Amino acid sequence: MKLLEERILSDGKIYEGNVLKVDSFLNHQLDVKLLSEIGAELKRLYGNCGITKILTIEASGIGVGCMVAQFFDCPLLFAKKTKTINIKGDVYHSCVESFTHQCVYDVIVSKDFLKSEDTVLIVDDFLAKGNALNGLIDIVNQSGARLAGCGIAIEKAFQGGGDALRQKGIRVESMAIIEQMDSGTGEIIFGTRN
Ligand code: 5GP
Repeated sequence: MKLLEERILSDGKIYEGNVLKVDSFLNHQLDVKLLSEIGAELKRLYGNCGITKILTIEASGIGVGCMVAQFFDCPLLFAKKTKTINIKGDVYHSCVESFTHQCVYDVIVSKDFLKSEDTVLIVDDFLAKGNALNGLIDIVNQSGARLAGCGIAIEKAFQGGGDALRQKGIRVESMAIIEQMDSGTGEIIFGTRN
């Protein structure tokens, strides 16, 4: 998506440790119009897949997830991060290693809201090593729901998570794919997939 690439170039900031900060428009302050464009594009790509639920992970997936859900006219469900060890039987749970906080979270989704009849589109703001998506995919598999694929705002392809999922046969559509970024020069090189 040209619009998103241009916005990353104009407002994104690259930090040490391969972190791209886009909190002026994607995951702190939200540019709702831009998120809406992402929703429209994912609807174009997945519109004929029979999606009944958008699944994301708190907190930063919720903004983009809401806009996507509006286009699919279905609920947005977000996995909750918890450090509680006692996992009750009425939730699906998985473990996710956090890229940004460098710790491991349990993530949970209530069994009330994800059923085997569902067809799920997983959405997130970033795809780096794929840990967050693998946790969400694990939860979808536990529920017996069908996974249509993943819709990502920004994929950092050089961290390998997206291509590993594609190699497993999972459809991954990213609105901007970063092949390289350099915190020293500020240079960002975009690429494509499929
Ligand atoms: P992964 O689990 O694929 O390694 O990382 C994806 C998760 O980490 C996303 O949910 C996202 O919130 C966070 N994340 C990964 N890379 C970045 C980044 O460069 N910038 C920001 N703001 N978040 C990131």
